[in-house]
Amino acid sequence: MAYLVLARKWRPQTFDEVVGQNHIIQTLKNALQNGRLAHAYLFTGPRGIGKTSVARILAKAVNCQEGPTSQPCGQCLLCRQITEGEEIEALREIDGASNRGIEEVRQLRENVKFIPVTGRYKVYIIDEVHMLTPEAFNALLKTLEEPPPHVIFVLVTTEPHRIPLTIVSRCQRFDFRRLSVRELVARLERVAREEKVAITSEALYLIAHQSEGSLRDAESMLDQLISYKGNEIAISDVRAMLGMVSRETFDFFLDIIRRRDTAQGIDLVEELTNAGYDPRQFLRDLMGYLRNLLLVKIHSRPEALIDLTDEEIEKFRMLAEKFTAEELLVIIQIVSKAEEELRRTANPRLVLELTFMRLTRMERILSWEEILSRLEDLYQQVKSMGGKDVPLPISSLVDQPEKEKKELVNDNNLSPEQILQQWSRILEEVKSERRALAEFLLHGELIAVKDGTIILGFPQNLAFSKEGIEKPENRKILEESLKKILQNDYRIKCTLINSRESTSSPSPLEEPMIRKVMEIFQGEIVGVSPISSVEEA
Ligand SMILES: [Zn+2]
Repeated sequence: MAYLVLARKWRPQTFDEVVGQNHIIQTLKNALQNGRLAHAYLFTGPRGIGKTSVARILAKAVNCQEGPTSQPCGQCLLCRQITEGEEIEALREIDGASNRGIEEVRQLRENVKFIPVTGRYKVYIIDEVHMLTPEAFNALLKTLEEPPPHVIFVLVTTEPHRIPLTIVSRCQRFDFRRLSVRELVARLERVAREEKVAITSEALYLIAHQSEGSLRDAESMLDQLISYKGNEIAISDVRAMLGMVSRETFDFFLDIIRRRDTAQGIDLVEELTNAGYDPRQFLRDLMGYLRNLLLVKIHSRPEALIDLTDEEIEKFRMLAEKFTAEELLVIIQIVSKAEEELRRTANPRLVLELTFMRLTRMERILSWEEILSRLEDLYQQVKSMGGKDVPLPISSLVDQPEKEKKELVNDNNLSPEQILQQWSRILEEVKSERRALAEFLLHGELIAVKDGTIILGFPQNLAFSKEGIEKPENRKILEESLKKILQNDYRIKCTLINSRESTSSPSPLEEPMIRKVMEIFQGEIVGVSPISSVEEA
């Protein structure tokens, strides 16, 4: 059997086989059933979506031995001749681009006068009809004004605005629409099945996307893939044929941004350049990819907005979790700026490299929810620290890993260092008895140990912590805890101190509240200026 390209082999032969033009098909079928056919039709719409095919089916429908019928038999002589594309009186296809002059149209006018010998109607399909000269249109108009009853014109065009209104107004107009990605995929799936080609649905979606609504383009793309790869086709084959960067490459690209790995980004640019990818195409595809990612991130039903398989949407969802929407927006801004720069540059590679540098040096951007929740944490922590001027830093011991438990000498003359080593355990013990007491303790600092008495100092403005500890029931809990951990009797004495003098560690970096702020916002200190100098300034 001779090789037929898929688009031709799978050309619809009945109205019911036409994909995606239901509004037109239904109207035509009704007209055929009710005997209300027009003598001139105008079929408009982008290429490759079935205009000429529908015109041919119409020619069959009116000429079929069983007809006029909305379901031509496909078996009678005329039906078969039309299917085979034979030159017959009942159907003439004229290419408007190469028969655009007045002479050709005059000839046509002569020709239409004669009643057909075979068939009921003479159907004239004039393709690319917008190519006719004004004189030719004028001549055609005369025929359209008084068409012989046995003639049907189907004017086909991708550019209806180039057709004189006098012509348009004589025709019944049908606007064919682009096929949706899903319609194309459904059609391609069927063709692949019948052709016994194993192709993944990801690959079919990519083909459908690339063909921009044109069934013919989609089918010829599938055709090329079959001749290039045989009967097993993966998405990587489609990308390779289209010169596209793989989805995995984009995943990798985002991973590089997430890890802020500038060097690897530059390497990737090198790879892409060496592989001969067009930087413009790369950024265009990248933008499409980022759009999908953002939509998946922010939309509860992204499948309504993007034509991807469920698995692909799920992959995007997992990836999107690693970024905040705000970060994705900034990435998109940077990439779209790069697209602009590419238009003006003589050095596209440099633009890509700079883009990678910008992306990998971008600050981590928190989402508003994160900022708010961190502020809330901060507020709670500051509150629990008891105010603004929080001194130092027994609390710093709390976070330290517990030092290995030293054998304690069994007397009550431990050095302050030895006691501090146990301090986090003491705090834990106190906390398990009375939480508020542990917080009071955090405000003090150990000043001295003398004759079995531990002296704690409290700044003037935190006298309430001192008073809290001195309450008899609290003092009792504290001294019991000391006994339990230090294995000996200790008494507690509290005293007020001048916080400025007592500050043994003047660096603001050690301030618990500042450390907390830094920890919460994952920040770093860029400079320190004394409050007095700020006030003077
Ligand atoms: Zn027939």
